[in-house]
Amino acid sequence: MKNIRKYMMAAACMTAAAALVACTEAVKRDTEEEIQEMTVPKKPGPITKVPATLTCNGGEEFTFSVSKVQWAETYEWTIAEQEKSKISIIDGQGTNVITVRVVNDDVVIPAQSVSVVAKNELGASKVRDLFKQAKEKAPCIVFIDEIDAIGKKRDNQLSSNDEREQTLNQLLTEMDGFEGNNGVIILAATNRPESLDPALTRPGRFDRRVPVELPDLQGREAILRVHAKKIKIADDVDFKQIARMASGASGAELANMINEAALRAVRNHRTVVTEADLEESIEVVIAGYQKKNAVLSDHEKQVVSYHEIGHALVAALQTHSAPVQKITIIPRTSGALGYTMQVDTADKNLMTKEEIENKIATFTGGRAAEEVVFGEITTGASNDIEQATKLARAMITRYGMSEEFDMVAMETVTNQYLGGDTSLACSADTQNRIDAKVVELVKTQHQKAKNILLENREKLDELAKYLYEKETITGEEFMRILGQEGKAQ
Ligand code: ZN
Repeated sequence: MKNIRKYMMAAACMTAAAALVACTEAVKRDTEEEIQEMTVPKKPGPITKVPATLTCNGGEEFTFSVSKVQWAETYEWTIAEQEKSKISIIDGQGTNVITVRVVNDDVVIPAQSVSVVAKNELGASKVRDLFKQAKEKAPCIVFIDEIDAIGKKRDNQLSSNDEREQTLNQLLTEMDGFEGNNGVIILAATNRPESLDPALTRPGRFDRRVPVELPDLQGREAILRVHAKKIKIADDVDFKQIARMASGASGAELANMINEAALRAVRNHRTVVTEADLEESIEVVIAGYQKKNAVLSDHEKQVVSYHEIGHALVAALQTHSAPVQKITIIPRTSGALGYTMQVDTADKNLMTKEEIENKIATFTGGRAAEEVVFGEITTGASNDIEQATKLARAMITRYGMSEEFDMVAMETVTNQYLGGDTSLACSADTQNRIDAKVVELVKTQHQKAKNILLENREKLDELAKYLYEKETITGEEFMRILGQEGKAQ
């Protein structure tokens, strides 16, 4: 079972001390619709917000609202002037063009982008030049992408990189030198906020930090709608359902899904993108393209059918499992020979111990089916094993869900935004006990999964046969054969 790959992207977007700009909470609900809703009326009142959209490299969009009053006071901008004026961007990195648009009465003003220096050549003198230019072009935005490249923590070692230190000092000096309202806004982005020098993150340097989290269900739907505007799309497309299926996807991946769907429509000589195109494109982004010419032996195909039905049955016959959306045994270019797609009806923020245990059981369900039916095991469960182990370990070391270790953190997440690596913080002896506990936990759930399948052997056979013949079945078909229509979503 291939799970949706999750990754985090963070951008600490901050403004210089003096600039009176307020970034909104986060990326979550920045839709074009919403921006238009917030569009500045002809005669703005004192609390009018002027929304601007920032598109970062991956297509992650986030909005920062600028209070009209603040802009007006700070930069003596009026709405009328704004329509004419362009915000210039000075991009710290030549290759990464960001665009800033000020949306005003449906008028989208594209920003003029000025690339000044490539990130790797940002020395102290370049920083000085950058800010000199910025002040001349004000009002403008200085955007420094991957600020950790120059803003890493300084150390006292003799071998420390002198040039980098000078660059950082210059940057700090420039930021301090902002006397009130000179109309330059500094934005910076990083995936490693924890590695930044404390001098950069200290209060007074950057006013705001905006953690850019993965979009939630509502956010995903909104982002899909924004990107779907660029293509011709059937009227009956259920964006909410697509957003549900794309759980864990980033803004960039969602944009990619729309793109894939459009390509699929073109390949099939259609001018309109349908819901089926979108569903297929989600699978392409998650699991790769269908491997049409992959040759599985008849026996292998049977094993895969049982394996996938094993996952689905264990999921469906436990409580609190996400409903099965689709089961397929068509191989994908990612190497998956088949997969079971479960789709939560809503975003889950909290999970109970029981829910995690059930999830582990679901992961082991594929292998359990192979054992129950064929009495032999295959390599097909490698991904499941990885996922189940990860969950079991986290239960003990991070979620405090074992009696033995109670609420003691045994592991800390070292890099929240890049892969979420963890490091153990306990003695070798404790590590051994944790390992034993992880094995015990997975074993218990594996046995539970086997018992479920043994008790429902008839349904297992019936469903596996059906999947073998059809190759792809929907969640409804699955629930119908299982005889639990009432429980299906
Ligand atoms: Zn599996």
